Amino acid sequence: MLNSINSVGASTYVAPTSGVSASQAPQQSEGLEFSYNPQDELVMDPQTITVPNASKGGRAPESEHVRLGEDQVLKPNKEGQYVYNQGTPQYIAAHTMGTVQSTVNALSEKFGQDISWAFGERQIEVNPDAGMMLNAYYSRDDGSLNFFHATDPVTRQQVFSGSSGEIVSHEAGHAILDAIKPGWLSTWQADTNGLHEAFGDLTGLFMASQNDAVCELAAKETGGDLRKPNCLSATGELLGQTINNDAGQNATGGTYVRTLINDFCWQAPHTVDPKPSGTDPLTTEMHSWSRIFSGAQYDLMTAMTARNMEGGMEAAQAIKKAGSDCMTLLAGGIKKAPDEDASYRDVALGMLQTDRELGGANQDLIFSTMRQRNILFEGDDQLMSIQSAPQPRREMTVTLEGPEFGKFSGAEVTGTVSAGPSIQSGNPGQSLIDNMKMHIQNGSILYTEPNQKVEHKDLFDKDGRPYVGVVRWVDGKMTIERNTMIS
Ligand SMILES: [Zn+2]
Repeated sequence: MLNSINSVGASTYVAPTSGVSASQAPQQSEGLEFSYNPQDELVMDPQTITVPNASKGGRAPESEHVRLGEDQVLKPNKEGQYVYNQGTPQYIAAHTMGTVQSTVNALSEKFGQDISWAFGERQIEVNPDAGMMLNAYYSRDDGSLNFFHATDPVTRQQVFSGSSGEIVSHEAGHAILDAIKPGWLSTWQADTNGLHEAFGDLTGLFMASQNDAVCELAAKETGGDLRKPNCLSATGELLGQTINNDAGQNATGGTYVRTLINDFCWQAPHTVDPKPSGTDPLTTEMHSWSRIFSGAQYDLMTAMTARNMEGGMEAAQAIKKAGSDCMTLLAGGIKKAPDEDASYRDVALGMLQTDRELGGANQDLIFSTMRQRNILFEGDDQLMSIQSAPQPRREMTVTLEGPEFGKFSGAEVTGTVSAGPSIQSGNPGQSLIDNMKMHIQNGSILYTEPNQKVEHKDLFDKDGRPYVGVVRWVDGKMTIERNTMIS
């Protein structure tokens, strides 16, 4: 039965609505309805979403790519659907499950292929409320997406990260990107990590932008000028409010976890001030660094929306089309980018090429928005193909030595480095060493003692974010391993 449901091949992708074969008809219905909020309860009332490739299981519903965690029991309502009152445990479970499968369906279409999880199982496990924490994360090792709750100290409200469509789609985006580019999760590069985070936020943006109620609201808030703050530019409004109330200050810069409106420009990651001042300044920590790329993508959507309106579309319709077109270009750019250590420029070049293959209607908009962020450079729009110049990479192990590494001095790290001609002079492992210096300065590497039993909860920093790397002692040697959890 497992194989018969997973019948959608990579080369001949069929949209899930039409992918139900006769042999699976007893399990598959016309689809099931789930509670859904493309934003969160701070922004709008819940809606429902129909998931065509979901079925009623025994213990809980399941779908083509998703199952709920073992401890979840979820029975349908009187109408036989999974629609519940907002805030109940059933609502959170139905919302996370329906949103994850809907995100998979929508991105399968954009990538033009079925999603086959990086951890080798047919379904990802979704844990709608895995305990107290102000976060959510994807774990490749466990094959799971995990959401949490916390009590807002000001409003006294219980806030669930699984009740925000943007946040659930963000985490699903990590798992989906890991399925498309598994090599991107073993990287030490700032840009590749930033691409994972940017893709999460942009997946939340894309899913929200395909919802008519969200587009109407964003149109009302902005008149179609997406440079003005709105429900689409703000990611995770309710969780952001709770984070700020918990911190006792405006830690995120506004009522959101992140905003897509910024003017950060790319620079060489090793030249970034490791301890900058100001509210929410740019650092090479992956969520922070991602904002250069996600901000550029949002600029592109803003420009496309304006152009759609000049062509006569209503604001809401213009936003929806721009959101869809942006994801088409991004998915194409990601597929064309290198399988390891991809940079922002790699994906932007891939987007230019994808657009050319689709007729080239957006060449100027892509180039100008990416050029403005220092992601693309003069002449990049004249490159007809990125395939001709992929950077060859090879794996290498280096030892971190020197006082600048503190207690991490002596640690061995394995990563990929450029194998091209540029390494003939100098130390080829220097870029890897520089990357590790950056992560250590950011506090993103967990130090452990030789005989320390490392528990699962130890793998998260004080903000609930998984560490990028963790010290493991192998035969008495300190090694730093990449953590494959990402929040
Ligand atoms: Zn993330």
